[in-house]
Amino acid sequence: MAKLVFADKKADRPAPASRQGWTVLVVDDDAEVHTITELALRSLTFLGRGITFHHAYSGAEAREVIRRLPDLALILLDVVMETDDAGLRFVEYVRGELGNSKVRIVLRTGQPGQAPEQEVILRYDINDYKAKTELTQQKLTTTVVTALRGYQDLSALESGRAGLRKIIDASASLMQSRSMQMFASGVLTQLGGLLGSAGCGILCTQGEARPTGDFTVIAASGKFEPLVAAAASEVDPQVVERIRGAFDQRRTVLEDTHTILFLRTPNYRDVVIYVEADHPLDGMDRSLLEMFGTNISISFDNLEMIERIVHHNEILERRVIERTQDLRERESRLRTILEASPIAVAIFQLDDGGASFANARCYALLGRAREDGAPLGLDGLFADPADRDRVRAALADADGWIGDLEIRLRRDDDGGRDCWSLLSACRLDHDGRACALVWLYDISQRKEMERELRQFATTDHLTGVANRRHFLDGATQEFERARRYGGPLSVIMADIDHFKRINDSHGHQVGDRVIQAFATTLQSCLRACDRVGRLGGEEFAVILPETAAPEAAVVAERIRAQVETLAVPLPDGGTLAFTASFGCATRAPQEGSVAATLARADAALYRSKHAGRNAVHADEG
Ligand code: GH3
Ligand code: MG
Ligand code: MG
Repeated sequence: MAKLVFADKKADRPAPASRQGWTVLVVDDDAEVHTITELALRSLTFLGRGITFHHAYSGAEAREVIRRLPDLALILLDVVMETDDAGLRFVEYVRGELGNSKVRIVLRTGQPGQAPEQEVILRYDINDYKAKTELTQQKLTTTVVTALRGYQDLSALESGRAGLRKIIDASASLMQSRSMQMFASGVLTQLGGLLGSAGCGILCTQGEARPTGDFTVIAASGKFEPLVAAAASEVDPQVVERIRGAFDQRRTVLEDTHTILFLRTPNYRDVVIYVEADHPLDGMDRSLLEMFGTNISISFDNLEMIERIVHHNEILERRVIERTQDLRERESRLRTILEASPIAVAIFQLDDGGASFANARCYALLGRAREDGAPLGLDGLFADPADRDRVRAALADADGWIGDLEIRLRRDDDGGRDCWSLLSACRLDHDGRACALVWLYDISQRKEMERELRQFATTDHLTGVANRRHFLDGATQEFERARRYGGPLSVIMADIDHFKRINDSHGHQVGDRVIQAFATTLQSCLRACDRVGRLGGEEFAVILPETAAPEAAVVAERIRAQVETLAVPLPDGGTLAFTASFGCATRAPQEGSVAATLARADAALYRSKHAGRNAVHADEG
């Protein structure tokens, strides 16, 4: 590391006229000494500065004068004045009470024997001790120049220390800058402070524009302030020339009226700081400027890196915000679609079965009020635990899908009545949890229609008993079962007697009532497992499972007797009695179908008709 030089002794330059001379205080009670001293030193210049004299004629007066002279460089001090040691007491005052250790003091005494107290010389910094006889111009000049040089060195050291403190403070406060622009402005402000002037400066970089020789002003202070962010073309041509020169030559230029610091930063673009000073820079100023430049050049890199990181962070943050926003919008769109769905939709978590979403339709279907806040559960949907198990198993297997399953849905209102519903479900991940998306479609109406259709297709609408086809289906089933298990099975054929006459005499409506009364009577005389069917017109059949021929004949006889007692109301207020004939048959072992058994029963019925009606005949097999 280069040795730092705080005062450049070789940098002595002629001072401008405005600069003040060295302040020298002559303290002596002998007026002649004042005159001689001034005469001897009148033409002396040191470091380009002459001497400005101040005078005091006693120790007491000297105390008064020194208070007004903060920049006092040298005191030529008589020892014996109003008292024998007035000069020494004044030394004590200056060094002790005033704490001024910088001003140089040369003691002078008229009597060579009167040496100052050794203690005073030892304790206080006294430059020289001279007899007044040594007031020749040459001797005095040598003494004064030596003392002034000492003073200059001390001043330089002091301002160097102050300058260093400023650089350290400046760097510390600059480090807190968050942006390049702030940092650059700070650099200019600190430079102004360092140079002891308000400072007019420009800080610029060449950046990507380097090939064109152009540069960008990042910060500007003083009269250059309007140029912030300006292009080179907007800056004073002479200044532009100097700045370009610094960029081209890549070096720092220190002139009397201006300074151009060229900062080479390892990674950041080159930086040039142009500062105008209101006074010529001395060696100290220059050293401090160079130090300052070295000190801050690394900061450009750091800051550039921080700015890049901040910039990338901002981009990332913006992306995250956009993505989140996008996701939220998608989710909200999805919810809107699900909410508006004409089908009940809900999302259930598979672990605890709790619902994380259910649309209005779903609440309505389950008979729940959404505002109740009562939790919906997957397992609570099913009236039949078997359905619940089927759905759970389907969702747990590899496909994770179940479609169009008819279930009995448990509802909360309507007295907790179940309703038919079509359920489809698929497994999906929602918010990182395994869930089931469930669609429920109310099919109660369809189910009701189906029931009605089935009834319509199987039932005789006049009597409510099974129609021919449905009866034959049932009879076939019973026949097959009897054949399989070998149980007895009997059938009865029944036919209303002279029904044509009833129709003819009383009209079809009465005929219908007679048919209805006959069907009701048939049913009332049978067991729950027996089946009745209307085969056509006024002709009915009965199938009697687990019934042998004798019992069948008994049943037929019971019906016949019951029919005989009926009295069907007539429109004229009277009643109508009627009878019916019956034929019975029992399944024979060799018989292949129920039709054969029914045919034998029909034949028996035919015999009852022939035998005069209102009778029961059984087929003998
Ligand atoms: P038999 O004693 O020999 O059985 O004589 P029947 O008159 O009862 O028998 P037939 O088969 O000659 O007449 C049956 C009549 O029943 C003919 C038909 O018009 C009538 N009929 C058929 N279906 C209905 C019905 O649903 N309502 C009414 N009122 N009459 C019906
Ligand atoms: Mg008949
Ligand atoms: Mg008939």
